[in-house]
Amino acid sequence: MTKYVYNFDEGNASMRALLGGKGANLAEMTSMGLPVPSGFTISTEACMEYLATEKQLSDDMMQQIERNLDELQVRTGKSFSDDANLLLVSVRSGAAQSMPGMMDTILNLGLNDVNVERFAKLTNNPAFAYDCYRRLLQMFGNVVYEISGSYFERHLAKYKETHNIKTDQDLQVDDLKQVIEKYKEIYQQVAGKVFPQDPKQQLLEAIEAVFSSWNNERAFVYRNLNDIPHHGGTAVNVQEMVFGNSGNQSGTGVAFTRNPATGENILFGEYLLNAQGEDVVAGIRTPQTIASLEAAMPDVYAEFIRVANLLENHYGDMQDIEFTIENGKLFLLQTRNGKRTTKAAFQIAVDLVKEGKISKEDAVLKIDTKSIDQLLHPSFQVEALKEAELITEVGLPASPGAATGRIYFDAAAAARAVEAGEKVILVRQETSPEDITGMSISEAIVTSRGGMTSHAAVVARGMGVCCVVGCEQLSIDEHQKLVTYPGGELTEGTLISVDGTNGAIYLGKIETVPSEAEEAFQTIMQWSREISDLKIRMNAETVADIETGLSFEAAGIGLVRTEHMFFKEERLREMRRFIITNRKTEQDRALSQILNYQIDDFVEIFSLTQDKPVVVRLLDPPLHEFLPHQHNEQEMTKVAEQLGISSNYLAQRVMDLTEVNPMLGHRGVRLAVTYPKLYLMQAEAIIRAAAQVNATGATVKPEIMIPLVGMTEELSLLKTQIEEHLKSLLEELDTQVAYTIGTMIELPRACLIADQLVDYADFFSFGTNDLTQMTFGFSRDDAAKFINQYIGDGLMPIDPFQTLDVEGVGSLVQTATNLARQKQADFKLGVCGELGGDPKSIEFFHQIGLDYVSCSPYRIPIAQIAAAQSAIKYATIKEKLEV
Ligand code: PEP
Ligand code: MG
Repeated sequence: MTKYVYNFDEGNASMRALLGGKGANLAEMTSMGLPVPSGFTISTEACMEYLATEKQLSDDMMQQIERNLDELQVRTGKSFSDDANLLLVSVRSGAAQSMPGMMDTILNLGLNDVNVERFAKLTNNPAFAYDCYRRLLQMFGNVVYEISGSYFERHLAKYKETHNIKTDQDLQVDDLKQVIEKYKEIYQQVAGKVFPQDPKQQLLEAIEAVFSSWNNERAFVYRNLNDIPHHGGTAVNVQEMVFGNSGNQSGTGVAFTRNPATGENILFGEYLLNAQGEDVVAGIRTPQTIASLEAAMPDVYAEFIRVANLLENHYGDMQDIEFTIENGKLFLLQTRNGKRTTKAAFQIAVDLVKEGKISKEDAVLKIDTKSIDQLLHPSFQVEALKEAELITEVGLPASPGAATGRIYFDAAAAARAVEAGEKVILVRQETSPEDITGMSISEAIVTSRGGMTSHAAVVARGMGVCCVVGCEQLSIDEHQKLVTYPGGELTEGTLISVDGTNGAIYLGKIETVPSEAEEAFQTIMQWSREISDLKIRMNAETVADIETGLSFEAAGIGLVRTEHMFFKEERLREMRRFIITNRKTEQDRALSQILNYQIDDFVEIFSLTQDKPVVVRLLDPPLHEFLPHQHNEQEMTKVAEQLGISSNYLAQRVMDLTEVNPMLGHRGVRLAVTYPKLYLMQAEAIIRAAAQVNATGATVKPEIMIPLVGMTEELSLLKTQIEEHLKSLLEELDTQVAYTIGTMIELPRACLIADQLVDYADFFSFGTNDLTQMTFGFSRDDAAKFINQYIGDGLMPIDPFQTLDVEGVGSLVQTATNLARQKQADFKLGVCGELGGDPKSIEFFHQIGLDYVSCSPYRIPIAQIAAAQSAIKYATIKEKLEV
C-alpha cells in the first residue's frame, strides 16, 4: 500500500521530492525539537495520482487523511467539535521547488456557524473569532471556488464606508456577522455554491484545490520559465492553527538570518503585532523591524535569535523563517533557504566558510550560475523598470547587460552619432562582418533575426556588448530607417533601453545600477579554479577581450577566430585582392602583406598570453563574406577602384563566389584545399610570431586548428602541407617552436570517424555551433524563428544552440570522445562553441572527460563555477580544499 500521508515526525529535510520543500522542512524542524505546530503532509505522489485519475481522492488516500487527522486530534487534545479544545487548521501547498503561482494558503479551516461561537467563547474574544471566520470565507472562496478576492474586498470596503468604519480592527462583532452573511451570498451569486459547514468537507475540498492548482496556468508558465519539471506535483501541509492575531502578546512575521540584499550577517526581517500572516503580505499595516521585537517581547526575541542561529547552522545556509507568536509563545511555520541577490549569494557563501559552518565546496555549490551575469554587467534599476514601457520581451538574451541609447540602422550612421557624443544602439535585421566597427561602438545591438549563435550574438558576446537577437516582433526596415512593432513605430534617433540579460526592450531611458564584482566573487572564483579538473579557456582575439579573459584567469585561449582580424580597411583590401585577382604575382603580393599583418596580430596575442596555450583557428568563413554586397553599387565601385579593376569584373567575381548555401559551402578546410597558400601563410605568421615572443623569454606553444574537417583526407593533406612548410620555416629561422596541429570537430561525419582523425591530429575541439546546426539541419542564423514555437509547443525543451541537446548532438560528442580516447587515452579534447559557456552543457562535457571548454570572456566566471560544481557533484575534485 502506498503511503500518501506523513506526520511531521515521520519526515525529514531530505524528503523534498515527496513532501515538498515546506513539508520536508516542517518535518526536519519537528525532529529537531523546535516549536512547530503539529500537522501532517499529503505527498506530491498523492497529488500526481489525484491529477492522473480525473481528480479523485482514492479511498486509500481518504483513509490515510482521516487517520492522520484523528492522530492530530489526539496529539493536540483538540477536535473540530470540542467546546473546550477546538481544533482549527491551516492548509498550505508546497512543491519540491518553491513555486509562486500555485494556490498558497487557507487559514482558520474548521470554523463554521457553530464553531465560530465555540471559538468566541474559548478565546473570550468574539470579534477575533468572527474576524477569523470572515477571513476563512474569503480565502476558501477564493482558493477553492475560485471567487475573485475582489468581490469580498469590495464588499468589505463598502461596508466600512457606509458605516463609517476606518480599519478592519474597528469592526465590531455585529459588523462582522453582517459581513459574513454577505460573503455567504457572494458564494451563491458568483459560484452558485454554499460554504461547506462540515470541517472535514472543508479540508478535503481544500486539499483537492491545492492539488488542482499544480496545473493552473500561472504555475505552468512559472515552471516553464524556471526549468521545473511538470511531473513533480505539490504536497499539502495540514497544520494546527496558532493565532498571531489573538491579542497584543501575539504577532506574526518573516525574518532572514542575514541581509538578503547585501549578505551582511545581521538578522533582517519584520513583524506585526496582533496579526495573521496575510496582514504582513497585504501591506495594509506597516510592519516593524525585527530588531524592535527585542523591546516589545525580550524573551520571545531571545528565543527567536536562538532558533534562527540553530536553523542556519543546521541547514548551513541563510534561512528565511516564518513565525507566529501566540500569547507570548513562539511558533515556527516555515524555514527555507532564503532568496538573495547575487552579490549577497557570494558574500554569504564566503562568510559561512569563514565562520566554519560550511566547506568551500558547499560554498561553490551555493552559487546559482544563472545569476552571475547580474554581478558582471550593469542592470536596470528594479523600481525604474516597473514604470518602463515595454516594446517587446520576446528577444533572445544573446549578451548580458543593460543599456540605453538612440537607435541607428547602420554602422556608419552609428559611428557619426557616436562622434557627435551620442550613445547608440545598433538595430538591424541581422549583422554581418561589415558591421563590426558599428557593433563595437554601440551600447547595445538588437536584431530581428538570428539565434544565440548568429553573427550578432557571437560577436557581441565576445566584445561584452549587450545584445538581444531574434526579436520577431520587430519589423526592421533598414532603408526606411523604421522599426514597426505591435505597439507602434520607432524612427532613427529614438531612445530605447535594452536588457541583454532577459531579452526585453523598452521605450526611453531606464536608470541602471553598476556591476559589483567584489572580493567575495574573487574568492569563490579562486576556490572554483582549485576544485575543477575541467579547464576554462576563452574565445578571444582582440586585446580588450583577451585582457578581460585574463582578468578572470582563463587558462588560455580555446579559439582565436582569425577571420575577425580582417575587418580593418587595409586588411580587407588585401584579402579582396587575393580573392579576386587571377594573377599569381598579385596574389602572392597580397598574401605577403596579409602575412605581415597577421604576424603583428599574433605577436600581440602571444605577448598577452605568454606561456598559456592558444588555439588559433585558420580561416573558416566562405570567401564571399570578404566581398562587397553585389547590390551595394557605391561599395562595389569603391572596391573596384581600390583594387584597380573594372566594376564589371568585380561583379563577375562576386557572382562566381556567391553560394546558395554558404554555411554548407566553400568554407573551412575546403578553402585551403582550393587555396592552400592561405593556411600556409597563417601557419607561418603564427610560428614567426611565436618565435618573436619566445625570444623575449616566453614559451609560446601555439595550437593550430583546422576548421570544418569532415574527411581524414582533408586533414592529412593540410597537416602534411603545413608541417612541411613550417619545417623549412623553422630551419630558416634556426629556432624551435613547440606547436601542435589539431582540428575542429563540427560535422557529424567527423564525430563518426574520430578514430581515424586522431591519427592526423594532436587535439580536437568541438565546434558545437556548427555541430548543432549540421546535426539538426537547423540554420544557426535563421532557426530562432521556429525554435521558439517548438519550445512553446513542447516539441523541444530548450534551444539547442543555448544548451546542449544531449540525446543528439551530445551523443555525437560522446561518440567522438570515445573513439578518440580508445585510440589514445590522453588525447586532448576541448569545446569552443558557445555551449562551452553554458552550465548544463558544461556538466555534460565534464562528465564525459573533456579537458577544457572555451567561451567568450564574460562567460568565464559562469563556466568556471559550473565546472567546479560539476567536479563536486561527480566527485572528480582536483584537490579537496581545507577550510
Ligand atoms: C562552432 O562552430 O562551434 C565554432 C566555434 O565556430 P564558429 O562559431 O566560428 O563557426
Ligand atoms: Mg564553426
